Parts: sequence; structure tokens; C-alpha cells
Amino acid sequence: MSAGPDENGRERIVQASKPADDAEIVAGEQTLEERAQSVASQTDGFEEVQARDLRPRRFQDYVGQRAVVDSISIAVMASKKRGDTLDHALFHGPPGLGKTTIAHIIARELDSLLVHTSGPALERPADVVGLLSNLKKGDVLFIDEIHRLSHAVEEYLYSAMEDFRVDFMTGSGAFAKSINLPLQPFTLIGSTTRAGMLSAPLRERFGLAYHLDFYSTEELAQVVTRSAGILEVDIDSDGAHEIARRSRGTPRISNRLLRRVRDFAEVRNAGTINSKVAAEAMEIEGVDALGLDRLDRLYLTTLSKNYQGGPAGIHALAATINEDQQTLEDVVEPFLLKIGFIIRTPQGRRTTPEGFEHIDLPPRLDGPAGQGTLL
Ligand code: ADP
Repeated sequence: MSAGPDENGRERIVQASKPADDAEIVAGEQTLEERAQSVASQTDGFEEVQARDLRPRRFQDYVGQRAVVDSISIAVMASKKRGDTLDHALFHGPPGLGKTTIAHIIARELDSLLVHTSGPALERPADVVGLLSNLKKGDVLFIDEIHRLSHAVEEYLYSAMEDFRVDFMTGSGAFAKSINLPLQPFTLIGSTTRAGMLSAPLRERFGLAYHLDFYSTEELAQVVTRSAGILEVDIDSDGAHEIARRSRGTPRISNRLLRRVRDFAEVRNAGTINSKVAAEAMEIEGVDALGLDRLDRLYLTTLSKNYQGGPAGIHALAATINEDQQTLEDVVEPFLLKIGFIIRTPQGRRTTPEGFEHIDLPPRLDGPAGQGTLL
């Protein structure tokens, strides 16, 4: 089976929110495009996804994460050469760092169909059995937020991943029957912001596991420049670096800020986006010079003022800010930890002297270790 380039701009992706229980296996030799359409038309909740404009489509367009890209691209090339399916792969790291993007690139490099679903969408074992039985040899099943799979669903994945088969029961009472369903060899790609929440049996079944880290300013400036080219936005190098510096180490934020800055430049008739225009636009968006947004600053101010710099527990902070705890843990805290504005101690979160300084508060004398003692 071969797949030509995407002349029509569609990706060979099937979005599976919930497959129908009786989804038929697609027969015959079809192109990936035909298969995507065929699977989409046979199943509930499947839809084809238009290509995401700014998503890099090949490894060479994927900025940064060199060690990860080098390793996974070798694994992809080796499996292609052997005619094997790629080992199951897990990507973990904060949101917006390119986990979904790399999964799509892998499927594309393998010339495979990517079936995209997420942990919360696979509610019942029947959902996952339907999905798995629909896969053809070499397909890539991408499960976003894999840490949110229910335990019952997860158990079906163990034998599916290890032996390419699922055992399930049909009927009930005297009519109950156990069915052992062989599956086509496939590759599971999992993505999670919380590797620690994955059960050990699931984690162990991934032959490849990678952590994606925050991007450097230089890398994000490359992302901005690349996206500006695609969006036909006129931006100079200083403008791209200004956006990059304020992107919290995250390409998704770079792209979002670029769009906001573009709007601002269009309305102000600013022509080329330089660092001044970019900075002005982002101040209006509430993004400060280090890239902290309103929620980051609210978190920092609450911890530093209401809790005098901590230690404070995440439950208490979430309740005070009136924000979802998971958002704070997945989105806000990783970056504040990364830039050293907070630390996590067994007693709770604490503001560091740098954190206090950023919001113009005097550091606490009995602050985090090594920062002086209360007289
Ligand atoms: P995640 O799945 O980790 O939340 P995504 O893969 O959805 O993140 O990435 C968010 C957006 O950021 C993508 O649409 C893409 O445009 C951009 N992006 C992510 N990683 C990169 C990268 N390495 N190079 C260029 N753009 C990237």
C-alpha cells in the first residue's frame, strides 16, 4: 500500500471519538486516502480532519527536540527497512510542545493511516475493541491524554499491545462466550502530560518513551518565522525573537501569539512586525516580558501574597484562584518551576526570591532553602 503526497491538503487521519460497535473491517487494497474516507463513513463520530496549517509534516520541519527526533526517526527508518511495525511509543511533557505533531509525522513517515482518539473518548471496552479490530497492518493508533483511560479500557490494551489480540466476552449468563480476537499488528502512540499517572503495566508496554522539554527562545523564533512564512506575515528577526521570548517555551503559544500580533499589526497598519509592535501587542494580551500570562501571575501573586510565599497545597491554591487543579498542575506550574519562580517541597509550593521579585514583592527572609533565615 502506498500513499502519495497530499495534493488536496488533507491529512490521512481519522478522528475517532467513539467508533460504532459494529464497525466493519475495511477490505481490499485501498489508498490511505480511501481508507480514511471509508473508515470515516462506516463509523459514528469519525471525521476527517483538515490539515492543520502550521503543523510540521516531516521530521525536517519539526523544530528542536533533536535527541527525540534523532532517536524516533532512526526507529521509524529501521522498522520501514525491516517491513515491521514500529514499536509502541509514548510521548510525555507539558501541553503544546508537539506530542500530537510528532505522532502525525511518524504516521506520515511510515506511510500509515493515523487513527486519532483520546483517553476520555474511549469510555467503554467496546469502544476500544471496535477501534482496535478496525486497524490494519501498520496503522498508527494515537491516544491523546492516555493517562485518562479507564482501568477497564486500559486492560484491553495490554494484550492488544503485546500480542496483537483482544479477549472479550459477548452475551451474558448462560450465553456468555469468551472471544479471542486476533488483531493486525499496529503501533500505539500515547501522549500524556502526566507520565506519572500511567500504570506500570501500560508504561512497560511502550518500547519507546520520550520526554518533550520546553523549547529555547532560538528554537521558538524558528517556529515563529516558519509560521509567519506560511501565514504570509511580514516579521523581522527581532519581532520573531520578541514573540519567542514570551511563549513560555511552547510552540503552540508562539503560534497563538503570532496570530494576535498579526491582528494588532493589521489594525494599527504597522506593516512589518518588529520587536516594538510585537511587545505592544502582547502587553495588550496580558503577556508580560517573560511570557507569563494572567493566570500565571494570578497563581504567583496568590501564592506569594495570600499564602506569604507558601508552603501551600495545590488544592488550597486551586480553590483560592477558583481554577481547575489539573490546569494549574499541567499548564501553569511546569513553566514556573522551569524558570525557578516556584519550588515544590513535600509541604507544598513555595515562591522563590526570583518569583517574588517578578511581581514586585520583597522576598521572604525565611524563604526557600538557602535564602536567608528569619532573625
Ligand atoms: P501537544 O500534542 O504536545 O499538546 P501539538 O503537537 O498539538 O502539542 O503542538 C501544538 C502546535 O505547536 C502544533 O499545531 C504545531 O503547529 C506547533 N508545534 C509543536 N511542536 C512543533 C515543532 N517542534 N516545530 C514546529 N511547530 C511545532
